[in-house]
Formats: sequence, structure tokens, C-alpha cells
Amino acid sequence: MSAPRTKKFDICVVGCGFSGLSIVSHVVRLAKRPLKMVVVDPGTHPGRGVAYSTPYDHHLLNVPVAKMSAFENEPSHFLDWVKEIGGEDTIGPSTQPLEKRFAPRRLYGEYLSAQFDALLRTPAHRLSVTHLRTHAHAAIPQEHGFVVRCADHSSFETSTLVLATGNSAPADLGVDLPTDHVLQNPWAWEQLASLAQRGNILIVGTGLTMVDALLTLQAHGHAGRITAVSRRGLLPHRHQYEVAPTTFTVDLDEARTVRGLVRQLRTHMRRNPDENWRAMVDSLRPVTQQIWKSFTGDEKSRFMRHPRPFWEVHRHRIAPELAAEVDAMCAAGTLEIMRARLRRQSIRMQGQEIAVELETRLPSGNVENISRHFDAVVNCTGPDTRLDHTRDPLLRSLREAGLLQPDPLGLGVEVTDVFQLRDIHGKPNRRLYALGPMCKAAAWEITAVPDIRKQTQRLAAELLRD
Ligand SMILES: Cc1cc2nc3c(=O)[nH]c(=O)nc-3n(C[C@H](O)[C@H](O)[C@H](O)COP(=O)(O)OP(=O)(O)OC[C@H]3O[C@@H](n4cnc5c(N)ncnc54)[C@H](O)[C@@H]3O)c2cc1C
Repeated sequence: MSAPRTKKFDICVVGCGFSGLSIVSHVVRLAKRPLKMVVVDPGTHPGRGVAYSTPYDHHLLNVPVAKMSAFENEPSHFLDWVKEIGGEDTIGPSTQPLEKRFAPRRLYGEYLSAQFDALLRTPAHRLSVTHLRTHAHAAIPQEHGFVVRCADHSSFETSTLVLATGNSAPADLGVDLPTDHVLQNPWAWEQLASLAQRGNILIVGTGLTMVDALLTLQAHGHAGRITAVSRRGLLPHRHQYEVAPTTFTVDLDEARTVRGLVRQLRTHMRRNPDENWRAMVDSLRPVTQQIWKSFTGDEKSRFMRHPRPFWEVHRHRIAPELAAEVDAMCAAGTLEIMRARLRRQSIRMQGQEIAVELETRLPSGNVENISRHFDAVVNCTGPDTRLDHTRDPLLRSLREAGLLQPDPLGLGVEVTDVFQLRDIHGKPNRRLYALGPMCKAAAWEITAVPDIRKQTQRLAAELLRD
């Protein structure tokens, strides 16, 4: 009896959030020769990933409709799709032109699902795209590629492996509490919704994920008080619908150091007090990756230590409607944003409540300890980018085999300019690639759709080069 034949693919993409969907779409569009591709993702809605699987209309995109096309060279693709399905009415406020509005991420998820369905209809004589609804658990290197093993015990061979495993859950808070009192994964929507019945809630983190979480709790009728804490207590700034252009142009030579970059921005703002800082921040967008790449390792870690949180809140802004809701909650006293450090060792159950000690710095510079009681804790510290901490068996298997190298800043993996992974000796692997958030160490701004779609277009050309 002959042994069962192992399935063979040319390209395997692990993970089908926006990055996975986008690379497959670009390969399908560009390929001139027949190819067999496989996409491995356990999700029920391929293409949506963490960001666009939300069922809620109050979770809005943080990029306007006109800039969310899945395709770099078809800028109005999403806008046209919204018009085609008659989706304008689901996107407010109607006083603004559609292209400037912020659509629900749920609607964007539907758009991505439509793109995925179109991929599966690709004529089979040209290309085949197979979707395996499972987790990839290990990739074993072979002479001409990898054998990929999956959680459902299936396995196959692939010549090229693309990792598009995206946003991992936040780092564990490391608090010793019963599991029904602490939500470690803020994207587990049903569990989050069930916390709306609790009274006072502590949210750890004051960024975009916190905004998602508090609006969800509010939508499910939360009647208690929410306290959100972070070391600096910074909230994401708001977008504005009308932003006049800036006269600022960055001097890239001077921007090789963090100090040089910040100095330019500050000087320009001082000399042009009437300009909108949003236009200045946005003017850096086309050259942000270039600036990041020109930083030395020391400058990169300086950036991480000092201006990073300020950059995040100015760069990743929220829709004006959401900002207004956050303001209203603060004004009503149902939300308190605190600049404080959580003393993890001091978090404990006290009867049915969670007793927490928060360490806050007063304007005088003195430190004050504040004791508070809560009914639940939600972890909104954002995706954990440290590969050393990953729980993903596939990434662990590649790490153990020495095939990937975490970067020194804990942002993801080391990749080349064409996104090939470097092994522990720094050698690029021409059969192993990474996409999206995992490539932060190489590019810094590589998590939003407009950046990822550029990356996938380039990678598709690279994969089809041979
Ligand atoms: C809550 C949230 C909101 C955001 N909002 C915006 C926005 O409005 N605009 C914007 O431009 N960007 C936004 N972003 C940025 C976002 O990171 C990107 O837009 C994009 O969605 C990232 O896609 P991804 O495919 O790289 O990762 P993900 O969306 O995380 O998808 C990764 C996929 O890989 C799968 N996977 C992981 N490991 C394995 C494995 N071993 N085997 C099989 N499958 C695996 C996961 O199940 C998941 O489906 C948001 C991010 C988050 C987290």
C-alpha cells in the first residue's frame, strides 16, 4: 500500500486578518503563472482578524473611509464598495462628506469578507486558494520549504511560509484574582459585555482599546463607575473633520535623532501657533518608516522610553464622535482617567471586591498611594509584541528551531527590507516572511491598513519574482 500523498502548496499564509487577506489578494492579482496557495486561520470570518470582527457599531475605524481601501493602487475601493451596498446611512455624521467619515469596524469587516469570498472564486486554472480553518502549530524546515502541522492533526508542505499572525492578546496583568473578576483579553466581546452587570470597573490602559471597552460596557448598560489608569494617563486625541494643511516639512537629516525630530516639531509649532498639530503629525506619515530606519538602536530605544506614548496619542486618533462620548462620560463622573501605576502585588480580593493600590504622582512630584475597590478588572494594555512571551505554538516552534529572532526592543521579529525573517545568526531565510504588526521593529508604523497594504503589495511582487 502506498503512503498517503502529502498536500503541497507554493505559498502558505498563516493568519487571515487584514494582513493575510491582503497578501493573498495581491498575489492573486499579480500572478502570471499557476500557483497553489493555502491560508490557515481558525476564525469564522476570514479577513477580519481581531480589529474587524467586532459585532458593535460603536467601534469605529480610526482612519476615514477614503483612506481605508484594501488596495494601494485603487484608493476609492472601500468608498465605492460602501456606496455600492448603500452603506452610507450606517456611517455618521451625515453632515460630513462620506469620504471623511469614520465607518464602523463591523462594516469594514463585511467589506473584507467580501474580498475573501471573491478570492475563493478565483479561476482554478490560474490559481487555487484553499482555506484551512485551524491553527498552524508547527513549521518544520525541509530542504525546499516547510512541513506545516496544524491543530486538527492535518499537515502539508509549502515552499514559502508567510507569517501574518497579527495582534496577540495583551501581556497578562500578572494579578492573582479569580478568573471571573479579571478579563485578560479585552477582545473577548461576550465576556466584556457580561461585566457590564458589575459596579465599579478598573480598566488598565487608557488608549484605543480602553475606548473600545468603555463604549461596549456603556452599550450594555453599565451603571457603575469606570476608572482607567496608565502611567501617563494620556487619552488618544480626536480627529477633526477640517484640518488646514501645514507648512511644516521635516528635515530628514536632523530627524535622525529623537531630539532633532522633536526640536523641529516644537520650533515649527512655536513659530506657527495657528497651525493645527494634526496636519504636522500627518505630514510625517509618508516618511515615518524612513525616519525610524535612520535611527540607530540607541535612538530607537530612546524613542520607546520617552516620546512613544505621546506619539501614539497624537498619531492614532479617535473619531470626533467617540471623543465626545468619552468627554461626556468624564463630565458625568462615570469615567475617571488616572495617571497612576498599578501595584500588582497589592491587588487582592477583599470579600467580594477587589482591593487595589494605585501609586500616583502629584503635581508637586511627590508620590501618593491611593486605595480603591473594584468589582472587575479589564486588561486594555494593548497587544503584547514580545515574541519571547508568545503563546502561539507556531511562533514558539520557529523560535525553538532558531528560525526567528526577536528584536531587542521587544516589538516583534527581525526582518530584512523584503520582510524575510532573520534566523538567530542574522541570516535571512528566503522561504520565510512576516507581515503586519510583527514587523514593527523594522518599520515602526506597520499596523494600520494604509501601511500594511503597501507592505503586502511589495511582498507579493517579491514572492512572484522567481
Ligand atoms: C482593536 C483594533 C482596532 C484597530 N482599528 C484600526 C483601524 O481603525 N484602522 C486601521 O488602519 N488599523 C486598525 N487597527 C490596526 C490593525 O492591527 C490592522 O488594521 C490589521 O487589522 C492587522 O491585521 P493582521 O492580519 O496583521 O492581524 P490580526 O487582525 O490580528 O489577524 C491575525 C490573524 O492570525 C490568526 N492567527 C494567529 N496565529 C495563528 C496560527 N498559529 N495559525 C493560524 N492562524 C493564526 C488570528 O486568529 C487572526 O485571525 C486596529 C487594531 C486593533 C487591535
